[in-house]
Amino acid sequence: MITVEQAQSLCLELVHQGPVERVPLDQALRRTLAEDIQANRDQPPFSASAMDGYAIAEGDAVQGRTLQMVGEAAAGHGWDRTLAAGQTVRIFTGAPVPAGADRVVIQENITAQGDQITLSEPLSVNINIRPQGADFSKEFTLPSPRVLAPADLALLAAMNHADVPVVARPKVALISTGDELLMPGGAPSADQIIASNVFALHAMLLENGAAPRIFPIAKDTAEDLDAVLRDAETWDADIVVTIGGASVGDHDLVAPALDWFGVTRTFHKIAMRPGKPLMAGAKGATVYLGLPGNPVSAVVCGHLFLLPVVRRALGQTDVVPKGLTAQLGASLPAGGPRAHYMRARFEETATARVVTAFDKQDSSMLTVLADANCLLLRPIEDGPKNSGDAVTIFPI
Ligand code: AMP
Ligand code: MG
Repeated sequence: MITVEQAQSLCLELVHQGPVERVPLDQALRRTLAEDIQANRDQPPFSASAMDGYAIAEGDAVQGRTLQMVGEAAAGHGWDRTLAAGQTVRIFTGAPVPAGADRVVIQENITAQGDQITLSEPLSVNINIRPQGADFSKEFTLPSPRVLAPADLALLAAMNHADVPVVARPKVALISTGDELLMPGGAPSADQIIASNVFALHAMLLENGAAPRIFPIAKDTAEDLDAVLRDAETWDADIVVTIGGASVGDHDLVAPALDWFGVTRTFHKIAMRPGKPLMAGAKGATVYLGLPGNPVSAVVCGHLFLLPVVRRALGQTDVVPKGLTAQLGASLPAGGPRAHYMRARFEETATARVVTAFDKQDSSMLTVLADANCLLLRPIEDGPKNSGDAVTIFPI
């Protein structure tokens, strides 16, 4: 069996970056910038006053000096003459600093009499001027790929870009499989359970910039699986995710159904728990991931394989979950022949990050998963660990 890391690289090799589309800034939150964006202007575009006060020449910056007020500069309304010695211009925050002025004296530090002001207080070190281009220059570039955060949108707006090129959201088809499954809200018969993990996957996909769609549940028959795979293809899915039926039981028909459908399989089964029966493949440019059906297995595989695939389809480079180091809060017995991603909770104290695994690690238990805030990795054949030992965790 291949390792998680090998499987992640193989999955990523199957992915093609999506096309570029332009979106207005107010729709660009969390989208992935597809091209480097250049400012093409300085910000501020002129030297601007940082305070309300009086613009003066450096030669007049002497405590006790009296100056003649010759004009006013406000935001959006500059004073377009040149300040001479002995003169001052009343100036407001955001106004262009007039030629000839070198500093702004804040209004609290002068006394005014008619159109004369006296610099009544000691001159400050701060000249209260934001130099032209202090925030960014014409050459400044916001590099891609970048997941756009709120401050990025303000920055792009200040650069005078009304819309930005982003990578199209990959369309992800989510297909639950199993005769026992029913959508939530229905009336289950005695031997039915509710299709649950698909809602976690759907939410994780939304959070990560994909366009997911939940398809109707496929029964455990070749015909039903084939029909829903066809529907996903017609919808033009970039990534098709099946859930369940991935093992080799009599009713686990996903692997043969994908073969029959023309998906070239890259791997089936990985040395991990939960999630051993994971499979991946491709048909044309579409990536197919077969996730195990157990709710926790499906979600863990979603974090470790599906989300990296989505991020790569969005053109991102840092796509695989990053581990953090934490100290064990309680000892753990030796690990086994598969990498174990244990459900756990970590806490950051003032001095340490401490993680404790839950006692119950059954891959069907959603209550435990819902209480977990990380996966605690036990590498293959990891020795026993004591409280205080360092381990790797993946926040979820
Ligand atoms: P399978 O991988 O189909 O053998 O399913 C493994 C276990 O997960 C079985 O107990 C299934 O009933 C359950 N299961 C499969 N698919 C889902 C689903 N979409 N939501 C919740 N449980 C599921
Ligand atoms: Mg099944």
